[in-house]
Amino acid sequence: MSRNLLQAWQGARARLEAAGVPGPVIDARVLVEAACGVTRADIVGDPYREISPEKAARLDDYLERRIRREPVSHILGRRGFWNIMLGVTPGVLTPRPETEVIVDHALRLFPEGRSLRILDLGVGSGAILLAILAERPAARGLGVDVSEEALAVARENAANLGLAGRVALLRGDWTAGLAEAEFDLVVSNPPYIATDVIETLDPEVRVYEPRLALDGGADGLDAFRRLAPEILRVLKPGGRFLVEIGYDQRTAVETLFRGAGAVEVETLQDLSTHDRVVAGAKKPLETAV
Ligand code: GLN
Repeated sequence: MSRNLLQAWQGARARLEAAGVPGPVIDARVLVEAACGVTRADIVGDPYREISPEKAARLDDYLERRIRREPVSHILGRRGFWNIMLGVTPGVLTPRPETEVIVDHALRLFPEGRSLRILDLGVGSGAILLAILAERPAARGLGVDVSEEALAVARENAANLGLAGRVALLRGDWTAGLAEAEFDLVVSNPPYIATDVIETLDPEVRVYEPRLALDGGADGLDAFRRLAPEILRVLKPGGRFLVEIGYDQRTAVETLFRGAGAVEVETLQDLSTHDRVVAGAKKPLETAV
């Protein structure tokens, strides 16, 4: 039986709702748009447009995958972040809106025009680094990741955004092999979930997202213990860092960075008013009196 757009959308919503999928209204609309190649305006403005059997079949496939709790970003293979669109695979952490706090703050700290060298540790899809580079034409960036699969995704995203000429992507173990005092800004969204907690997360994360990007060890802080001294080492004097943290990690992570010699250490909140990003600086060189 043929369906029109309105029926497809209502049917999709009902199926997701019945299956207990969180956020069924928005997911239904997004999946109808993708499966049928239409926009939100088409669904509202031309609701009785018939959809072809191929599109209906594609929608059914998307809905079945979503009901198995596959994230929408994996079904579509892309996700919007800040003001860029990123390709996403199961090999990278799907970019999340709370991570935009890092981008927002970085852009405030480094106004346009100045040359800027950025390092993104655990670059994943490239979300943070590419979002900043897209807005700062004089900036150059290095993204490091231990996962070749992530680097391939980041490379393709950089190319699609026309940023490949200003970004280098390297496989590495955090800052191993990088020279001292090279960067004006270091950003990172490292794995910070305690190993035991991963089992309690939604299936979208627990089943479908890479452990490597989530698992922060027994207390969730393993990556920060390594990153604090390493970030201070590779920053130029006066350089800044911004790292994403879990909502309950503020004191522990601030203490690690202060212990490594960082100054002006503070924690920024996300839009849900959760502690989300620890920011700070490497001490500037003493100026001669
Ligand atoms: N914020 C992510 C989550 O809660 C975790 C990201 C991370 O470990 N860096 O799923």
